[in-house]
Parts: sequence; structure tokens; C-alpha cells
Amino acid sequence: MLMVMPKTSQSKRRSRVKRAEACWPLTKTGVAPDAPTFAAAVIAWYRQQGRRDLPWQHSDDPYHRWVSEIMLQQTQVATVIPYYYRFIERFPDLQSLATARVDDVLDHWTGLGYYARARNLHHAAQVIARDHDGVFPGTFEEVAALPGIGRSTAGAILAFAFHQSYPILDGNVRRVLARYHAIDGWPGKADVARRLWAVAERHTPVEDVGDYTQAMMDVGAGVCSRRRPRCATCPLASGCKAHRQGNPEQYPASRPRRTRHRRTTTMVMARDHRGRVLLERRPAAGIWGGLWSFPECPAGRPPERWFQEQFGLEIKSGVPWDPVQHGFTHLELEIRPLPAQLVGTAIIVESLDHVWYKPGSSLGRGVAAPVRRLLEQLQDHPF
Ligand code: SF4
Repeated sequence: MLMVMPKTSQSKRRSRVKRAEACWPLTKTGVAPDAPTFAAAVIAWYRQQGRRDLPWQHSDDPYHRWVSEIMLQQTQVATVIPYYYRFIERFPDLQSLATARVDDVLDHWTGLGYYARARNLHHAAQVIARDHDGVFPGTFEEVAALPGIGRSTAGAILAFAFHQSYPILDGNVRRVLARYHAIDGWPGKADVARRLWAVAERHTPVEDVGDYTQAMMDVGAGVCSRRRPRCATCPLASGCKAHRQGNPEQYPASRPRRTRHRRTTTMVMARDHRGRVLLERRPAAGIWGGLWSFPECPAGRPPERWFQEQFGLEIKSGVPWDPVQHGFTHLELEIRPLPAQLVGTAIIVESLDHVWYKPGSSLGRGVAAPVRRLLEQLQDHPF
């Protein structure tokens, strides 16, 4: 039986206090310049107005905090909540996640996007089972070494689950700090990131670090919003440089414009005589890595001939459906769905990477959102 237990100790606590003192150099009067004021202000605000009833806040279990922090990367709280409940119901502890099939994990992630997060979560659970006897590690170095956990996520897990003082710097917190200190430049640049981490460290308190961390997330999400910061109600307004300058929206600087590539793909929705459709597992690397999808005919190839070469089966194509657009951060994908019917009754044998699926039945594997929608449409769509 695997157990999830913290590994904190007195000596770790002493070293954290020392580290925090180093982050807050004392003035001649023995008072740190502005850090306690900053932290005290956001903590006081949080205790009156912050979010204190999120599902993962009812637990100190690092497993729960870890799952929630990974889901919250690039995804808003309201979207995450139903996924979190479903995931924790299916994988209630580290052991159940470590021993699960990756397909099952991806299935419970379907619709949440950024699927590398789910694969890393699964992989990290196996690493913890193998290298840490199934006990979630309690030091920064160990947590940050797990797949899919960066410095900010490690800081959040340690703050929430182990009450250890480490800074976080997710997108929301970055915005608050860039405005509070009027830090110029795009945070993706190394020197700007360094300055932001330095102030994040300086403000992070030793006591009440969990409340402080959640408070910063809440100020970023609900008060210091990207377009219309509500400075009049902000607990940091009195010390905020950008507010004083009257230009908070100018911080942080936007990412330099990137060209978004366009790509077109034909998804062949080949059905057999029993109405089942052929799905294949995508390669682990690349978009929708490890998820299940329709076979994709390369641009410029006649789909019927390509299918024959690929699978040794003859198909008869139907009328193509309307194209579906799907945007990624770096790519604009146009999907051209092509219904097709197998000629005869011969089919390819199912394997680890190929499956015949009857639309409407349970699949138990992860599929990307546009593929799921196409599968739903296939249910009421005769060839
Ligand atoms: S005062 Fe305004 S700009 Fe400054 S942190 Fe608060 S909401 Fe953001």
C-alpha cells in the first residue's frame, strides 16, 4: 500500500527561515523594507475576500494539491473543478494513478487540453512509486525533479501541502508583481524573469505561506486582471508603482508576435460494415500526443489509395464534411473530415495502436476535443 506523507523536519524548517531572512535583508532598525507589509496586506485581504472553498483546499494531501496545480496550469479554476472531481474519484491516491493505464488517465483528461500534463502526471506518479516508496517527496529539489513540475508548481505544492516557504510565479502572479514593481519587458526573457523571481522571493513570507500563495493567485485572477485591473479594491494599491503611474495595463509587456503556422489535414473516418470506425493512437511527441484519433491522410495524397497502401484495405469515400478549425498556441489546424466505408468485410486486426470503435459506446481512451465532436456526429450520420 503506497502512502502519501510529508517529510518536513525541524532542520528543514530552520534552513527555510534562514533562507527567508536572506531574501528579506533587514534595515538598520531591524525591519525588512516592504516584504511583511506586502504579504500582510494580501493575506488580510484573502482572509476576507479570497477563494477558500475550492475542492482541493479541503485537503493537505500533497497528491490532491499536486493534481490540482497541474490542472490549473493554463486553465481557469471554473473549468478545472468538474475535471478535478472526476479525476480524484477515479484516481483517489498516488497508487491508483501510478498503476493506471495511460489511456485511462488521458481519458479522464479529455477536454482539458495540454495533454502532456496528464502524461507527465502519470509518469511522475510512477517515479514516486519507484524512487520514493510511494511517498510524495517533501523537499524542493525532489519535487522540482518530477516530470511536469517546474519551479512555480513545486513552490505552490510545497507551500500548500507542506507549509514550506517557496515563491511562485504563475501567469497571474507574474502580472501582479510586474505591475506592483513596474518591471518592464516580456517575462519570457531571462533577465525579466530573474527580476520577477527575485521580488517573488522577497515577498514570500515564512509564516502563513499557504494563505499568502493562494492570496496572490486570487489577487491575480480576480483583482489585477489583464485588461481591467480593479485597483480601487486592490489590497496592494498603496504601494503599486503601475497604479501610481496610471498605466497598469502596460505591464507585463506582451510576448513578441509569433507567426502562427497553418496546417490542413484530412481525417479519414473509415467505418466497417458494423458501423465501427477505425481509430489510431497518435505518436507520443507532437500535438495530441498519445491520444486517439482518425487516421490522417497526408496533404496531396488521394485518400482511397493512401488508405489502401497504409492498411491494405479498400475504402469508398463519401462527401467531405465541412472543415473544422482548431487553434493551438503555435498552430492553426484545419481538419477536413472525410467519411468513408470499407469495401467488403475484411478489417485490420486491433493492436496497441489501432482500435475499431462503435460511436456512442464507451471508448476508455483519451481523444482530443474536435475528434470527440466528430465521433458524436458520426452517431447520427449514416454514410
Ligand atoms: S493596484 Fe492595480 S495594478 Fe497594482 S496590483 Fe493592484 S490591481 Fe494590479
